[in-house]
Amino acid sequence: MKLLITGGTGYIGSHTVVELLNLGHTIVIVDNLANSSTEVLSRIETITGKSPTFVHADICDRSALDCLFTEHRFDAVIHFAGLKAVGESNDIPLSYYHNNVSGSITLFEVMASHGVKKLVFSSSATVYGENNCSPLDESMPTSATNPYGQTKLMIENILFDLAKSDADWSIACLRYFNPIGAHQSGLIGENPNGIPNNLLPYVSQVAVGKLPKLQIFGDDYDTQDGTGVRDYIHVVDLALGHVKALEQLDNIDGCQPINLGTGNGTSVLEIVNTFKDISGQDIPYDIVPRRVGDIATVFADASIANNLLGWQAKRDLAMMIEDTWRWQSNNPNGFA
Ligand code: NAD
Ligand code: UDP
Repeated sequence: MKLLITGGTGYIGSHTVVELLNLGHTIVIVDNLANSSTEVLSRIETITGKSPTFVHADICDRSALDCLFTEHRFDAVIHFAGLKAVGESNDIPLSYYHNNVSGSITLFEVMASHGVKKLVFSSSATVYGENNCSPLDESMPTSATNPYGQTKLMIENILFDLAKSDADWSIACLRYFNPIGAHQSGLIGENPNGIPNNLLPYVSQVAVGKLPKLQIFGDDYDTQDGTGVRDYIHVVDLALGHVKALEQLDNIDGCQPINLGTGNGTSVLEIVNTFKDISGQDIPYDIVPRRVGDIATVFADASIANNLLGWQAKRDLAMMIEDTWRWQSNNPNGFA
């Protein structure tokens, strides 16, 4: 297939591009490099022996997208492009709504005008909000507690309405749980700008000596050891979930939300202790008050992904952390 991958030089996009190239698909990436680097392209080439076409453009730029769809006859689009930092979204909400929501609407309009109506969209478990109990399943009510989450929810709702209005659309809305890990080669991985917000990049930067100490946000939750529990999923399993979704798009009627998670919960302390064992590094930490907006436990019911896509996460926590550590220790400054 010939595929357009928006945000394809980013963390999840680059791992998905690798899997798609390995399967022989033709890939065009569009990315504005707001949170990624062209160095990713040469790393992808080293891993796969193949080069995706790269177009440096913004998904908000209608005429750039129009040119792209005129030049290439795409079979489908995987839409990763977006801003993703929850904290930042509280500070600059208009940028998030513009980039994520307006950018997505522009993309969907250009797709429709060129008759490309197959889409895999990067959604998030954040759309389950604060009021559902894990395991979270796709029938549960959705809500959002910050502008980033609102953008994911708004785009999902736009896609449900779009699919209702025109039966030619086939859309998989993939709700990711907590992607971690890196490609086994150690050549590509997560490369956050500045001080990381998410647990794994923070822990790995402490392990590699870039940050002095982890702060654990609360040890008084109603969980096995009092620290927060999440469903961590290896980024390569996540990438393979996109491959399966793409292969099953013809069997999807309208817009289908699909959880991509392992179905297992892991606490912050389990992550820290496993990281310490695997890396052989000390991970000093302080227990500090809970982070505003955090909930105790989040994990997926992944049965729709299993039944509809024939997909299941295969890589365990040790592998997620080994691969994170290989990436971080080989590339202490990311792609710089
Ligand atoms: P990332 O920041 O590494 O990748 C996103 C890519 O999109 C970047 O390369 C960035 O430069 C690009 N981009 C942003 N705005 C753009 C625009 N207007 N035009 C063109 N390119 C643009 O993030 P990621 O972790 O790979 O996430 C990919 C998608 O998955 C995002 O939509 C994110 O919201 C979603 N998601 C991520 C997580 C996570 O924990 N990483 C969890 C749930 C959902
Ligand atoms: N967490 C933490 N210290 C950090 C970052 C995260 O204790 O520096 C905890 C957080 O409270 C949550 C878990 O780690 O329980 C995962 O947080 P992350 O931000 O990675 O994912 P999210 O909460 O968005 O699912």
